[in-house]
Amino acid sequence: MSTISRFCPQCKKYARLGVFDGQVLLCPYCQNQWGKIEKVETIFDRCPMCTCRQFYTDKDFNQVIGFAIMAISIVLVPKTYGLSIPVFALIDWLIYRKVAKLVACYRCGGEFRGFNIPLGLKPFMHHIGLKYDKYR
Ligand SMILES: [Zn+2]
Ligand SMILES: [Zn+2]
Repeated sequence: MSTISRFCPQCKKYARLGVFDGQVLLCPYCQNQWGKIEKVETIFDRCPMCTCRQFYTDKDFNQVIGFAIMAISIVLVPKTYGLSIPVFALIDWLIYRKVAKLVACYRCGGEFRGFNIPLGLKPFMHHIGLKYDKYR
């Protein structure tokens, strides 16, 4: 399923919404309207929330999970004579490899998951990011 997630500009809570044609995007916490989706297929022509036309791709890796895996492996060191670190590093790597890519909007920071990523979309570029710093 395709979803959009972002920090709500009004209540500052992080929310994730399912996406469909003609949808009005409403924050589930404060009902603030983020924007409207005309058609899901053309969503990357213009960000439905801030009308920005520039996006970047990113690995959708949950840093919290990665950190938890590392912490557990360190806790287990005395019991496993240090073997837990390479074993958990491998698990970490396997998870990392499996993660999907997401698309993010430069201007509003919205994250788009489960979409067909347009060809030619590039990872985050610092010089473009700088242009949008003032909006964040
Ligand atoms: Zn809100
Ligand atoms: Zn945006």
